[in-house]
Amino acid sequence: MNRTGAPPDERSPTLSATEILSVAKLPPFLLDPLRAAFTVHERLHETDPAAFAAVAPRIQGIAASGESKVGAALFDRMPQLRIVSVMGVGYDGIDVAAAKERGIVVTHTPGVLNDDVADLAIALMLGVARGIGASDRYVRAGRWPEGPRPLARKVSGARLGLVGMGRIGQAIALRAAAFGMTIAYTARSAKPDLPYRYFESPRALAAETDFLVVITPGGAGTRKLIDASVLAALGPKGYVINVARGSVIDEAALVAALQNGTIAGAGLDVFENEPHVPQALWTMDRVLLTPHIGSATAETRHAMADLARANLEAYFAGRPLPTPVPECR
Ligand code: NAP
Repeated sequence: MNRTGAPPDERSPTLSATEILSVAKLPPFLLDPLRAAFTVHERLHETDPAAFAAVAPRIQGIAASGESKVGAALFDRMPQLRIVSVMGVGYDGIDVAAAKERGIVVTHTPGVLNDDVADLAIALMLGVARGIGASDRYVRAGRWPEGPRPLARKVSGARLGLVGMGRIGQAIALRAAAFGMTIAYTARSAKPDLPYRYFESPRALAAETDFLVVITPGGAGTRKLIDASVLAALGPKGYVINVARGSVIDEAALVAALQNGTIAGAGLDVFENEPHVPQALWTMDRVLLTPHIGSATAETRHAMADLARANLEAYFAGRPLPTPVPECR
């Protein structure tokens, strides 16, 4: 056995000589197969900079998570770097322009997580509208004998507004249809093949919406797309659900809108400065908070890991990449 844990003769000599840097705390079901195929340096750039300096010139691949931040400064330490494989569909933390300038391809894991993220969006919508978190706390605090909880907000038949109508947005719309919801959306462009009403802007959509669900990519193109004016248009009976990225909502404006009653409530899986959540939200019954768990089921995380590994293996075996990001196709 060598230090990767695999007998050398079972590994492709080419692949086992290929050195990979993991830049995230990857799950064992990704890390172990990567170690069996490649020589993996696990977060060496953070844990042992001197050792990293010695191996950096040989590193050809990066294994990252959807939350990793990798840019020009790290790329420039690794002149042989050819691929960044992200285990996640969102890759807003990767400087793709800088990668392309250096001939580095970026891959991600679209599709396999649509169901889970859509399920969570629906769960947050139902949870915040029906006060499930607050009701759970009420029962656990022994307060039921004091009387019933305030009446909640009906979801079935309400108006859903999706900001983003891509893979996950469409999966959310399918689920919402089963709740008899009226479905509308905004995106960069209208989708004439879809049976939903299109609005030109988040503000116009919000004005016609009860539940505004945000499911765009993060990054510069969507930064603070949901600002105070969108929240004002949503109004005091409206709810925001964010399963996209924290950067897509102006978080200070959102906190203010919740404090002032400008909107009715929010279900949030993602935040501007994770893992930190504004303390003002901690005590609010009108919000439901989850710690970025959109794709966090065993089934989906395994599928994402398999795809992230398949991209690395395909690249180094000279096969077509299963899922390069759109900019690298
Ligand atoms: P996708 O298929 O690429 O869809 C993205 C949608 O966003 C498209 O409809 C796109 O419009 C729209 N969009 C992009 N920029 C926009 C803008 N400036 N204004 C309005 N709409 C815009 O991506 P996906 O697979 O559905 O994933 C979406 C995002 O979900 C990911 O990038 C990631 O950030 C997030 N996500 C979160 C979790 C979680 O754990 N909470 C898990 C997975 C993914 P067009 O269709 O017109 O191009």
